[in-house]
Amino acid sequence: MAIATENRPEEKVSPQVSSNENKRWTLNDFDIGKPLGRGKFGHVYLAREKRSSHVVALKVLFKIQLQKSQVEHQLRREVEIQSHLRHPNILRLYGYFYDQKRVYLILEYAARGELYKELQKCKYFSERRAATYIASLARALIYCHGKHVIHRDIKPENLLVGAEGELKIADFGWSVHTFNRRRTMCGTLDYLPPEMVESVEHDASVDIWSLGVLCYEFLYGLPPFEAKEHSDTYRRIVQVDLKFPSKPIVSAAAKDLISQMLVKDPSKRLPLHKVLEHPWVIQNADPSGVYRG
Ligand code: AMP
Repeated sequence: MAIATENRPEEKVSPQVSSNENKRWTLNDFDIGKPLGRGKFGHVYLAREKRSSHVVALKVLFKIQLQKSQVEHQLRREVEIQSHLRHPNILRLYGYFYDQKRVYLILEYAARGELYKELQKCKYFSERRAATYIASLARALIYCHGKHVIHRDIKPENLLVGAEGELKIADFGWSVHTFNRRRTMCGTLDYLPPEMVESVEHDASVDIWSLGVLCYEFLYGLPPFEAKEHSDTYRRIVQVDLKFPSKPIVSAAAKDLISQMLVKDPSKRLPLHKVLEHPWVIQNADPSGVYRG
């Protein structure tokens, strides 16, 4: 795969490293530690950049698998987009390099791992916790949209948790840098808005829909349009068949916010800055932006 190498991480590393910007990364620059997890295309390891002692997560992707699945273009786009984003709730991509068989992504280390596992453990989150996460995601998405980046794949599996408990959007595999309306079908069905399921044009308000789905899942433990068959999920999304179970008990204010995000007409969804001003978010989200348990 012919992607160019990037400069060294210029932030959070010692000055002697950042001054050496023309040096290309190689595996020899890192001490490799324990495996952090396994993805579809390779493995992720804890690693330490030798000269700065900066701890990172090194994602190792096998070129052959990327080629087989025809995702080289998608990866290039992901790297291009994520490496230019700087936000406390977006996982940093410091750089990348490759050898004959593998592509290596140098990522910010998210010490508390996957949010998905936390949600599985707790079944569902408290309103304080959910609101704190939704507020930080709304801020991260406002930042992305300001840079004309639409994420398009917001879901618990793509969220990691940093050492302080802060949420980090981690996967930009389906994101696009766009000034135009898009038509591509992508993402996981449960989180897709009606306009993407129906493959009609979509814009940044797809992320508002996904945030609404996520808010529901945080509070109820399941996504709102889940069904046994794909075709039923599809139908429920298109009809916006939104039901609030009686258990767990969720406040009327939370349901109001969800109902304002899960609106079929994209132009009528609550804008992200209004999500931040919603009474449920104001009353429940931790002002520090971090859920501390
Ligand atoms: P992925 O290939 O991105 O799905 O990553 C596989 C697994 O590795 C994830 O499910 C996480 O448990 C772990 N992981 C990936 N990236 C990081 C990171 N930056 N920090 C900590 N753990 C990570």
